[in-house]
Formats: sequence, C-alpha cells, structure tokens
Amino acid sequence: MSRPRRVHVVGAGLAGLAAALRLAESGVGVVLHEAARQAGGRCRSYLDATLGCRIDNGNHLFIAGNHAAMDYLRRIGAADTLIGPDAAAYAFLDLAADERWTVRPNAGRLPWWLFQPSRRVAGTRARDYLGGLSLAAARPGDVVTDRLDPRSLIFRRLWQPLAVAALNTEVERGSAMLLARLLRESFGAGGAACLPLVPRVGLSESLVEPALGRLRGLGAELRLGSRLRAIELAGTRVSALAFDSGSEPLAADEAVILAVTAPVAARLVPDLTVPDEFRAIVNAHSRLAAPPGAPLFIGLIGGTAEWVFRKPEVLSVTISAADRLIDTPAEALAERLWPEVRRAYGLAVSALPPWQIVKERRATFAATPAQQRRRPEAATRWVNLLLAGDFTATGLPATIEGAIRSGDTAAARLLAAHR
Ligand SMILES: Cc1cc2nc3c(=O)[nH]c(=O)nc-3n(C[C@H](O)[C@H](O)[C@H](O)COP(=O)(O)OP(=O)(O)OC[C@H]3O[C@@H](n4cnc5c(N)ncnc54)[C@H](O)[C@@H]3O)c2cc1C
Repeated sequence: MSRPRRVHVVGAGLAGLAAALRLAESGVGVVLHEAARQAGGRCRSYLDATLGCRIDNGNHLFIAGNHAAMDYLRRIGAADTLIGPDAAAYAFLDLAADERWTVRPNAGRLPWWLFQPSRRVAGTRARDYLGGLSLAAARPGDVVTDRLDPRSLIFRRLWQPLAVAALNTEVERGSAMLLARLLRESFGAGGAACLPLVPRVGLSESLVEPALGRLRGLGAELRLGSRLRAIELAGTRVSALAFDSGSEPLAADEAVILAVTAPVAARLVPDLTVPDEFRAIVNAHSRLAAPPGAPLFIGLIGGTAEWVFRKPEVLSVTISAADRLIDTPAEALAERLWPEVRRAYGLAVSALPPWQIVKERRATFAATPAQQRRRPEAATRWVNLLLAGDFTATGLPATIEGAIRSGDTAAARLLAAHR
C-alpha cells in the first residue's frame, strides 16, 4: 500500500495517542476514535467523589531510560511535568524486620554501587547481585524462579518486588525473558536510566491532555464517545468502519490503526490470536499528605501493600498480580492496608483517613511465557489495518513504554509505505 492520506486511529490509550501523534507530525490526516468520553485508557486521572480530589486510576512509575515515553513527553511539551529525585533512589521498608534501606545505583554503566553496602539492599553482598546475570541467559519458556533463587534474601527484598511490579504477574509464572529485557534497559543501562519519575500532578495532566492539545494543534480530528462496533473487510483491505453513529467507508488511500485492548481487538479482527489471560492491579488511595521531604514512593516487603506513592493530595498503594484480593471487600482492604501506609511514611495519625479502593480486574495481560507467544505483530493480513497496544509483540511487558513503542511501530510502518 502507498503512504495513506488519512488514518483512523481507534482507541485513545497511550498506544493510539502515540500512533496518532507520529502520523499527525508527518502531515498525515488523523481521525482518533475513542469509545469512552475521556482519552487515556488504562492510564488516566479523574475526580473521585469520595475523596473529593483528582486521582490516577493506578500509580504509574516511569524511569528515565523509557526512551519512547520520554521522547513522547518531549514532543507533546510535557517533559517537565514528571518529577523525581536528583539521582536514582529506591526506598524500601521490610515490615517484618522493621528495616529500611535505599537502593542507589550510580549514574554510569559500571555498577560500582554494588560495592558500597549503603547503596545496596540491607543484608545483601555484592556477589548476590550476580544472580541477576543469569536472567540474561533466560530461554523463552523460563519463569522468573527458574533463573533467580526464590529462597535468597535478595530475591525477597529486590528481585521479587521488581518482577511482580514490572510483569504484573507472580514470580512462579512470570516470563524471565521479559524481566531480563526490562532490567537490561534499566539497571543494565546504568543508574541514570533507572532514575524514577512520576507525574507531578496526574497521569492525564502529563500524558493525555498535552497529547490531545498537540494533536488538535496539528489538525487531527478527535472523536470521543465513538465506539467501533465492526470492521468491514473486502479482500485484502478494510473497506469500512462501523461505529455506533453509523458506517464510515474507507477510501483507497485510508488506513486503520486498531489500538484497542486485546479482547476488543480479538472481537473485531477475524482469527486474531491475542493474550487471553490477565492479572488484576489493586490501588488504594487515602486522602492524606505525606510529611515534606518523604520519598516519592516506598517499596514494602512482607505486607499486603507493595508500593506506596506520595501524591499531592493522597497516599496511594499499589498491589500487582492482585487477583487474590479482587473479592476482598473494599472496607476490609482499607483496614488491612492503612497500618502499612502509616508505617511506611511514619505517620502519627491512627484513624483511617478517607479512602478509595480501585480494582482493575484486567489491568494487564499475564506476562507468562505462554501469553508471550500469543502477542501479535503490528501488521495484519489486511494491507491497510495495523495493530497497536501494550499486548502486541513489543518485547516488553504491558507498560506505558511498550504501549507507546507499539503506537510508534504501527505509525512507522504506514509512513514507510511507498509513496
Ligand atoms: C492500575 C494500573 C497500573 C499500571 N501501572 C503501570 C506502571 O506503573 N508502569 C507502566 O509502565 N504501566 C503500568 N500499567 C500499564 C499501562 O497503563 C498500560 O500498559 C497502558 O496504559 C496500555 O495502553 P494501551 O493504549 O495499549 O491500552 P489502553 O489504555 O487500554 O487503551 C485502549 C483504548 O481503546 C479504547 N477502546 C476499547 N474498545 C474500543 C472500541 N470498540 N472503539 C473505540 N475505542 C475503544 C479504550 O476505551 C481505551 O481508551 C498499569 C495499568 C493499570 C491498569
């Protein structure tokens, strides 16, 4: 197919936004369709009536080494909306041992920080980290516990929390290869790449609203509340898109990037294999400010809460691979998590502050070796239909970085088409 004149991008999550942005920047006409009334998909902020303030649907952590995400933020003019410490620092608290430490990788690639006990996980030796190298040799079928010793202290205090957060999958089932790729792009690239960053205000303020503004400025058409019901196919092409509002025929020089979730893509595209196993993420937000100067986030070992993030108006807990908690009543969860939050940030208040629990049942696909094999490429057998989304074959787990790369890839394929 020749380079299209106009592209319908369906789905305004980060994959769709990234694809739309690349195309609009290259002078291609873009129509961005989003079923919801709000863009951002699984990465968005909203006003929570119970708490009386804006919250993110889930805590999202970036690292400076997320090069596609950093590039996207620069291009939408939002690079300065992320905040983080001056140097890479990951604070932890082991609840059972009542022990705190901060992992501080040095900026360069040569990891001399491993030889300074004050920069390592408490109780570990430099040689314990060598285990991480065995991940580099992971085979496609390996799970994390095949490659890293789950009985070791460093596993419990570092590899496990990192793996569960990054893969959103339990270590006994999570793909060692996917974790290896992530660690190569973070710790393997030196401390500068590991610099943790979070939105100063919220996900929508950093990643979504500036992108919509930039797209409008480039002349893209944004259609919120526009749900795609069916794709009409004729031979090797998409011939029309059927929305709730009616059918839209596609001219010969028009193309589609389908940037919806995996289950929706499977419903719309015949014979498409996509990941079909998912994991939940639970977030618990409490309306309370952290003491000034406290870390932006703290990893908790041995509790129910896994990470606590300090936001402008809330303290917010993340629990990944949280399927075991999906049926736990919200009240009981809040009661269970609150003492852990209080300890993490050393808070004097004992009464439970106003709280909100957000359970995302299908937060991401399960990053298992079997699901990894089900991830589709961007190209389909229809010349003017491409796929984007965190579930496509990005080589990364379901992350913002993966979603943005998938959008970039789909757009690049269309832009590279012969004129
Ligand atoms: C609670 C939570 C915490 C997370 N934490 C992190 C983190 O710390 N770091 C990280 O990197 N990643 C994290 N992630 C993952 C990250 O949010 C996702 O990988 C990323 O947002 C996926 O983007 P996407 O565009 O691929 O999909 P989505 O965001 O799901 O976008 C798909 C879009 O398509 C729309 N759509 C669906 N059907 C239709 C239709 N028929 N017609 C039109 N539109 C349609 C949807 O409404 C949606 O807006 C987290 C996810 C969750 C849920």
